[in-house]
Amino acid sequence: MTYRLEVDLHTHTLASDHAYSTIHDYVRQAPKQGIRLFANTDHGPDMEDAPHVWHFVNSLTFPRMADGVGILRGIESNIKDLDGNIDIEESVRSTLDIILTGFHPPVFAPRDIDANTLAMKNVIKSGKVHVVTHPGNVRFPIHIEEIVKTAAQENVALEINNSSFLFSRKGCYSNCLKIAQLAKKYDAPLSIGSDAHNAWDLGRFDKAIELITEVDYPAERIINNTVESLFAYLATKGIDIADEFDF
Ligand SMILES: [Zn+2]
Ligand SMILES: [Zn+2]
Repeated sequence: MTYRLEVDLHTHTLASDHAYSTIHDYVRQAPKQGIRLFANTDHGPDMEDAPHVWHFVNSLTFPRMADGVGILRGIESNIKDLDGNIDIEESVRSTLDIILTGFHPPVFAPRDIDANTLAMKNVIKSGKVHVVTHPGNVRFPIHIEEIVKTAAQENVALEINNSSFLFSRKGCYSNCLKIAQLAKKYDAPLSIGSDAHNAWDLGRFDKAIELITEVDYPAERIINNTVESLFAYLATKGIDIADEFDF
């Protein structure tokens, strides 16, 4: 299986204090990494060092294309509670192109496997999110099969997060492998994300590619494999924006 992976849906700018690059840096880096389209997804406002909520609303001012690279307006929101609520209101959510969400300990302290699974299932079923970030995180054990089945049912992508294998969540490879194997079995969509906190990591998918290659996960079920596959996925969520971009 060959993967194109020309879209990166998970990047942070220096608007999140523990990240270090600007939108311009990402645009400059994109062609070097084979990235045609990327999403700016800074941390949702409940994280300690997240930008103010206006940061997200005002991303409407981004051009759709800069130097031939497409830019999506996004967020990596936080799962807040067992009901699967996230930390942005509908009025903000509806201005954005893509909504990522995930567990982050400062907002949702890791609980037992049943509670973590319940919260994640509820957020997937909420209809408000498009990608669940780093579901293989060892700090947040989940019933993987139950989550993958729910994701398949709701057509919500589970992320294979490349940076987890490098820096932040070591030890999650076996969880992620199981997620990818079951996603193939149940036909759940995956998203491959760099989770770049600096521009040099944009489009860095090396470890994630090893993993999906091991599983032989079908390229056509990866929502960010091509620009077209991403726009087709978003269209299933009522976000019909392909015509706004000049590819
Ligand atoms: Zn995250
Ligand atoms: Zn992130």
